[in-house]
Amino acid sequence: MSTPPTFPFVELQTPQGLQPHPVTNIFAIGRNYAAHAKELGNVVPSEPVVFMKPTTSLVHEPNPLHIPKSCDCLHYEAELVLLIGDNIPQVMTKQNALTAVLAYGLGLDLTDRDKQTQLKTQGLPWTLAKGFKGSAPISQFILANAVDNIHQLAYKLTVNGEQKQEADLSLMLFDLPTLLCFLNDYIGIHAGDLIFTGTPPGVGPIANGDTLQLAFNHFPLQATFTVSDL
Ligand code: ZN
Repeated sequence: MSTPPTFPFVELQTPQGLQPHPVTNIFAIGRNYAAHAKELGNVVPSEPVVFMKPTTSLVHEPNPLHIPKSCDCLHYEAELVLLIGDNIPQVMTKQNALTAVLAYGLGLDLTDRDKQTQLKTQGLPWTLAKGFKGSAPISQFILANAVDNIHQLAYKLTVNGEQKQEADLSLMLFDLPTLLCFLNDYIGIHAGDLIFTGTPPGVGPIANGDTLQLAFNHFPLQATFTVSDL
């Protein structure tokens, strides 16, 4: 794509080449890996923890990541991201829920950790800590029909060449069909929605000059972002 679209989008890898696909809502799931909930001192939830990011949070390669001026501790959280398509079952069950997924990608749920801790302590929403401009860098997306088995969606994150996070989807507290049914019942999902599915343990801070690389283990899809001054 020489000229990026003027609407919020993801880049979809299709047999016809890379195509922009519009994005509507961006949902995100917190604390979906027990080991990550524990590393931040949080209780393991009994139902999915859901928050949202605005579409201004999206960042595409090769654009750089920026640390917000007021942020002293920006954390990476590497996550599998679902793109919802048109094929949403009228009656969604755990057996048919995955038909709603058009494509899979990887993303970073960038988090102003000090701000989040302050908001959490006050019992306030996390929006400013996780919804600032540029807080959701994403990779290109691969069509779901290229994925035979959910375990193929294992992924990892390296920072400056050093592996920091690796996700085994079987360790999710709420698996993908459960998340889809929950969101669809409670809020409703539509074509163009993105769902960040939660991060495995190993989150940590990033600084100017760092290079972050997201990669699927079983597909040749990766995304590289560098952190630079505003
Ligand atoms: Zn997250």
